[in-house]
Amino acid sequence: MLVLGIESSCDETGVALVEVSGAGVPVLRADALHSQIEMHQAYGGVVPELASRDHIRRVVPLAEAVLQRSGVALADIDVVAFTRGPGLAGALLVGAGVACALGAALDKPVLGVHHLEGHLLSPFLSADPPEFPFVALLVSGGHTQLMRVDGVGRYEMLGETIDDAAGEAFDKSAKLLGLGYPGGPALSWLAEQGDPTAFKLPRPLLHSGNLDFSFAGLKTAVLTQAKKLGDELDARKADLAASTQAAIVDVLLKKSLKALEQSGLKRIVIAGGVGANKLLRSEFNAACAARGVRVHYPELHLCTDNGAMIAMAAAMRLQANVQTASKVYAFDVKPRWPLGDLTA
Ligand code: ATP
Ligand code: MG
Ligand code: FE
Repeated sequence: MLVLGIESSCDETGVALVEVSGAGVPVLRADALHSQIEMHQAYGGVVPELASRDHIRRVVPLAEAVLQRSGVALADIDVVAFTRGPGLAGALLVGAGVACALGAALDKPVLGVHHLEGHLLSPFLSADPPEFPFVALLVSGGHTQLMRVDGVGRYEMLGETIDDAAGEAFDKSAKLLGLGYPGGPALSWLAEQGDPTAFKLPRPLLHSGNLDFSFAGLKTAVLTQAKKLGDELDARKADLAASTQAAIVDVLLKKSLKALEQSGLKRIVIAGGVGANKLLRSEFNAACAARGVRVHYPELHLCTDNGAMIAMAAAMRLQANVQTASKVYAFDVKPRWPLGDLTA
């Protein structure tokens, strides 16, 4: 079974083809991606209307590239999957509209995928895929959640951020330091030249007793510190970046270890854009190795949004019989869609 997946929830247009054969982990046949980051950079953030229009321009050429690279004919696609939500309404409608048009034209069923389930299952695209059950830390631009995952569609929320997401903490702190957009990668590059112990920054909710996170206070602390430094800021920017990164990673690691301890599980999956962070990976690798815990990440280029994770999530839902694709081409997107509302 061949599943074409389309991602267009925010500022990346992604298309990919995944093949399901038997009970084995579905295989990625080809993927293509266009990032709009450069287009939005001038505005310091994503401009929704520009995002939608650019998805329209990119999606068909990307789909053609995927078919060409995989040597698959359009008519051989069995299911067309798309990101149904959460995300920007106009952007989601482009992917949903194209998927439904394609499905209707080919007389093939379509399937709407939850974007976060895509992130969550993205490590299954790597050479060493995880096995269920596991603890999952989802750290993206819009979400920070710890989950217990027992199988496809079987997700139990253990804790989540009560305000900003980890990616937002990176991006907002980076903006305060004048590092451009999106700031996560820029802040982490600068941090490599700095001293992570230079500034004492808060670790909110670290000892809260639950698995929730809070990152809103961190950017205020970074701003206060930056103001205090005044003219000295430029010379100390790398130190402040390193201290900020250390604070974020520290909280993510400690809470994840707690989730592992409480659940008794010996496996963790890290997914979402912040999962590309170098310090995060080295800290998790060391802490997990010391505790006999296996840690899985998506491949670096699949941490942020892409079509492969959407095709994969659809393929795994179909394979596990938790959902069937449908010939009702309704393209009803869900801009707000808590993962907890996703039915198995
Ligand atoms: P969501 O999936 O919650 O809707 P999103 O799709 O915008 O949000 P992703 O694409 O998963 O989020 O990730 C983007 C985020 O990851 C941004 O906040 C970005 O700064 C952050 N990020 C990417 N690379 C790194 C890195 N190396 N270090 C830290 N943060 C990073
Ligand atoms: Mg993005
Ligand atoms: Fe995402």
